[in-house]
Amino acid sequence: MTFRIAVVGIGKIALDQHLPCIAKNKNFKLVAGVSRHAKLDDVPCFETLADLIKSKIKIDAVALCTPPSVRLQVAREALDAGYHVLIEKPPTPTIGEMVAMIDFAKKKKRVLYATWHSRYNKSVDETKKRLKGKHVNFMRVTWKEDVKKWHPGQEWIAQPGGFGVFDPGINALSIVTKILPEPIYVESSRIEVPENWATPIGVDITFKRGDGKPADMTAAFDWRQSGEQIWDIELATADGIKLKLSKGGTVLHINGKLIMEAPMEEYEMIYKKFAKLLKAKKSETDYSPLQMECDAFMLAKPVVVAPFKWIELIH
Ligand code: NAP
Repeated sequence: MTFRIAVVGIGKIALDQHLPCIAKNKNFKLVAGVSRHAKLDDVPCFETLADLIKSKIKIDAVALCTPPSVRLQVAREALDAGYHVLIEKPPTPTIGEMVAMIDFAKKKKRVLYATWHSRYNKSVDETKKRLKGKHVNFMRVTWKEDVKKWHPGQEWIAQPGGFGVFDPGINALSIVTKILPEPIYVESSRIEVPENWATPIGVDITFKRGDGKPADMTAAFDWRQSGEQIWDIELATADGIKLKLSKGGTVLHINGKLIMEAPMEEYEMIYKKFAKLLKAKKSETDYSPLQMECDAFMLAKPVVVAPFKWIELIH
């Protein structure tokens, strides 16, 4: 079965991952693109989704790769046209918009698939397996990267609804919410917001266990990292097991011993899963990582820091 798909928002992630993975997957055929600036060589491209809908090209599904701020509006338009919808992370800027999108997809009887690419990793699955039935009492999430390297020129990340460093941080939380055997909640947080941004560039979160038992659990996200880029999650259990997921969830060490180094095939697995959901006519709309970030925003002590400059001027 082949699903005719269009990609909406042709920017970095669409070009790096969605288009190549669609091309590799026999269940999908790319039939159109939607972007105000970009054009694709082999398929018709439209400036807006409304133009694509008007074109009457037969479409089964769309992949929404725009920034989250516009996603509800675009998703509604797509669902209204009868398309199934895959969305990038973070799904929406608020829980309210996510709930509205889920309800609208149900009403229209279309598949809605909210993706969390960092969850698609064999080392993440192995960690989840090892933690099953365990009492986790220690967690250190360290997600520190250079925003200039990974988001060059993406002004939307500093606008309201652009998430700031919560944009990569939600990848870590998507892993955490997948692997932990019991729920944890935000206890407190501190966000550092550059004077010229509406979103944080640095975040520190302290978590508590859902059952109230003592635990030492924190997350630190920072976009001012130079040199080594760090995407680590360290965990410990009450019975003395120490686990470390590093390199964004691909490498797993247990008690210092390398257990698994998984290949990067997150988006290949996302499209495999999307085909399965489409065939089964089932949605997947877990938004627990977004809930955790909204809670961290809600409980945050905000601190204004020096303005961020994309380019340092040399005098
Ligand atoms: P990007 O390079 O800025 O691309 C987003 C595209 O969406 C733009 O090229 C733009 O194309 C279109 N767009 C539509 N409405 C827009 C608006 N109001 N403001 C800005 N752009 C708009 O961003 P990206 O890095 O691909 O990220 C897109 C989504 O993917 C985000 O949710 C991000 O978290 C997620 N993601 C990104 C990465 C990554 O490595 N960058 C990895 C995983 C997930 P036109 O202007 O031509 O319409």
